[in-house]
Amino acid sequence: MRSPKFIYGTSLFMTSISALKSLLIPGTKVVITAHYNPDSDAIGSTLAFQRYLSKKGIHATVAVPSAVAGNLKWMLGAEDILAYDELVHKLQIDALVEEADFIFCLDFSGIQRLHNMAPLVRKSRAKKVVIDHHLDPEDFGDYYYHRTIAASTCELIYDLILEWGDQDLLDASIGACLYSGIMTDTGSFRHPNTTAHVHTVVAALIDLGVNTNEVHRKVFDSSSIDRLKFIGHVLGQRMEYLPEYHLAFMWITAEDLTKFNSQAGDTEGIVNYGLQITGCVWSILMIERPDGVKLSFRSIEPFAVNTFAATYFEGGGHKNASGGRFSGGSLVEAKKKLMEVLPLYLSEINRVKNL
Ligand code: 5GP
Ligand code: MN
Repeated sequence: MRSPKFIYGTSLFMTSISALKSLLIPGTKVVITAHYNPDSDAIGSTLAFQRYLSKKGIHATVAVPSAVAGNLKWMLGAEDILAYDELVHKLQIDALVEEADFIFCLDFSGIQRLHNMAPLVRKSRAKKVVIDHHLDPEDFGDYYYHRTIAASTCELIYDLILEWGDQDLLDASIGACLYSGIMTDTGSFRHPNTTAHVHTVVAALIDLGVNTNEVHRKVFDSSSIDRLKFIGHVLGQRMEYLPEYHLAFMWITAEDLTKFNSQAGDTEGIVNYGLQITGCVWSILMIERPDGVKLSFRSIEPFAVNTFAATYFEGGGHKNASGGRFSGGSLVEAKKKLMEVLPLYLSEINRVKNL
């Protein structure tokens, strides 16, 4: 049964997160982490929170399972982020987690999303604080600041800092990190998660001095020529449209990744292109990785891809943006499985299409 600490608005929840503030005193040892393959919301929220804590006299280390993408390295503190899949960093992270009083878990609420770092965090004696907006949080944390209504973890970090009465500690560099995560998790303010509150927070960030145009350019207009050619290759050679399922289907082979010199973050966002096709309701991207096939799912309202990802591809996520994996074989076999299960979804797709 789900623990009451998840339920936002209950006294237990409110007590726990407000009680936490008084425990965060100078000298407290803190590690901040986020999910594997950290995106702009993960990196933006961890770095914003790190800088906020540093203003309170708390030195925190940001340690994530895998490398930071090149287009996020402009954020203040990004150069000092430790990545667990680099051996030198791994040793440092092992020691820091061992000594930590608190581990802040940002932008994920299923511990497996830490991949290789999951066992370390799970067994740590540190108190775990989950700040996140994903559905169905797992019960591995001691404190939760969890709201699925939030479009991004960055929005939650902003809300939490205000809730703790520390508005004065916000500044333009914290604001730029937060804006970056809010911007990307809302698809530049076009996804249905873009609430009035999102715009209210963004207005406050602009008042702090955030240059939103500059953040947008740094995040989206910083591709290598290889990456653009790679996108051209995927759209040209690796995409099919299945009109009966209103589905755009894309795949990327391991060979493609090597040939186009693919770097961390280079496949981010490619799945969204499929939704630009007239009549397309959902888009799927399969990527052949060394540890199996990784899938990304995107859809338009009201079609839910998280249930499809959870039922057939060991995943889940948000209603309109989910992920998953296929561990049962090669890319060819993953495609075969997709083609087998699609007919089972035909009536659901048509039901949604006719709404
Ligand atoms: P992406 O396609 O960008 O990798 O993932 C999109 C969203 O799906 C993420 O923001 C996350 O919410 C969710 N997601 C990605 N991979 C997984 C997974 O393996 N399991 C679950 N439950 N959610 C995932
Ligand atoms: Mn997020």
